[in-house]
Amino acid sequence: MSKDCLPEGAKCDWCEYDLDDEERESPRLNGSDEPICDDCYQEEYEFPCCLCENYDEQDVQHEMLVVFVPTSASGGDKVQPGVYAITGGPYWGTDYFSSWLDASQLAWLCPLPESLRDDDPFYPVGHLCRDCQKEMQVRGVQELTKKCAMAFC
Ligand SMILES: [Zn+2]
Ligand SMILES: [Zn+2]
Repeated sequence: MSKDCLPEGAKCDWCEYDLDDEERESPRLNGSDEPICDDCYQEEYEFPCCLCENYDEQDVQHEMLVVFVPTSASGGDKVQPGVYAITGGPYWGTDYFSSWLDASQLAWLCPLPESLRDDDPFYPVGHLCRDCQKEMQVRGVQELTKKCAMAFC
């Protein structure tokens, strides 16, 4: 949904900064149909891709999980670094002191892309935009084909 171009001086409903030309031409709306600036929109409705750093909408966020470092999991072994498809329900849990992954909700897809290998990341896990997810799907299939080929020889 978009409203017609807003008048100059129109402000973001949330942070109350002036909207810039582009934001006034095709304003993004919040839940109460008021225009908000791109920054507020990104913060509320989008997430940054950990691979290409573009923003994408949150409804694609929980399709895939990137694990940067071995991360605690419920019921035993740590989840090893790599790219995982999220298969269903909640894939992490937390109490007041710590959080952990639920390995039963994660399906191994492919190894961590070279550019994401970092011994000391700020967050132990990250998410991918649609485009990067597609790329990881392809990699996952390639990995699988490689393994099958090895199994047959
Ligand atoms: Zn704003
Ligand atoms: Zn991306």
